[in-house]
Amino acid sequence: MDKVYDLIVIGAGPGGLAAGLYAARASMDVLILEKAKTGGQIVITDEVANYPGSIEDATGPTLVARMVEQCKEFGAKIESDEIVSMDLDSDIKILNSNNNTYKAKSVIVATGASPRKLNAPGEKELTGKGVSYCATCDGAFFEDMEIIVIGGGDTAIEEAMFLTKFARKVYIAYRKGEEYLRAAKSIKERAFRNKKIEFMFNTVVEEVKGDGILESVVFKNTQTNELFEKVADEEDGTMGLFIFVGYIPQTDIFKGKLDMDDSGYIIGDEDMKTNIEGVFVAGDCRSKKIRQVVTATSDGAIASIMAEKYVDAKFEA
Ligand code: NAP
Repeated sequence: MDKVYDLIVIGAGPGGLAAGLYAARASMDVLILEKAKTGGQIVITDEVANYPGSIEDATGPTLVARMVEQCKEFGAKIESDEIVSMDLDSDIKILNSNNNTYKAKSVIVATGASPRKLNAPGEKELTGKGVSYCATCDGAFFEDMEIIVIGGGDTAIEEAMFLTKFARKVYIAYRKGEEYLRAAKSIKERAFRNKKIEFMFNTVVEEVKGDGILESVVFKNTQTNELFEKVADEEDGTMGLFIFVGYIPQTDIFKGKLDMDDSGYIIGDEDMKTNIEGVFVAGDCRSKKIRQVVTATSDGAIASIMAEKYVDAKFEA
């Protein structure tokens, strides 16, 4: 295939779609490639109340559908294909899927990150129905209810504290003893002082139960092997189970090519430039602190504008 795109965006979550939109608006010949379905993590979110301009019924899927429509309206092409290998070092970047070869003057990597799952029975079925991986997105649904948080890192403890704004009680279940908590001392200490928080150490999830909505969680104490069940208060009907056991960046295919931090996130500067000229990064796969839809779309816009400037300077001079 001899066609050379101005820009290929890999990944069609909010970061990739924002990049595609900005590129198409700037009259770039842009292709967005997505291996699964458009939307990324946001499509597992019931309500996106924290994205500016999103209205009451703005669910993850409807917000993504609008982003896709807007992209296409301005001429961005979106195709379903999975990139498996590439040559990014030459001026014209080559991206290969199992069946196709794509060429582009610039590339934006927006492949995202996914929350690590526990893979406990029932977890998948009840995701979005009581089980959540995003406190900012879903915490408000559990006003005055009980919430269980899983994990012992900074994210779990900080998000547990955030969730006390809504919940009447937040339990933090950590698989090891108190002395192994990874969270920073200052963060831990604030959590210990918080009267709404109760820790459950040496505790792992065995099963997540509920008929269409989360009703109970079965735990095992790893020291005694004793099983016990936390059941939602009858009046509440449900409770929250928030899982924060780390994230997995979707960056394996770029290993050895793009510079990454120790956790496998791609390093980009404030212009979203990577270590390879003409290759930019945007969204949750980028090494950074805050991962939200609004920060992903912001990255995408910046990466796209910088890619346009790069292509103009390099190829149109
Ligand atoms: P993390 O530091 O990797 O912690 C993950 C936690 O989940 C650990 O407590 C781990 O337990 C537990 N875990 C992992 N797999 C599990 C499983 N299958 N079942 C049960 N528990 C499991 O992840 P994170 O908290 O998301 O933090 C990621 C990075 O962002 C860290 O570098 C962190 O410092 C940083 N961060 C910083 C801030 C801040 O500075 N304010 C805020 C958030 C995040 P073990 O301890 O037993 O391994």
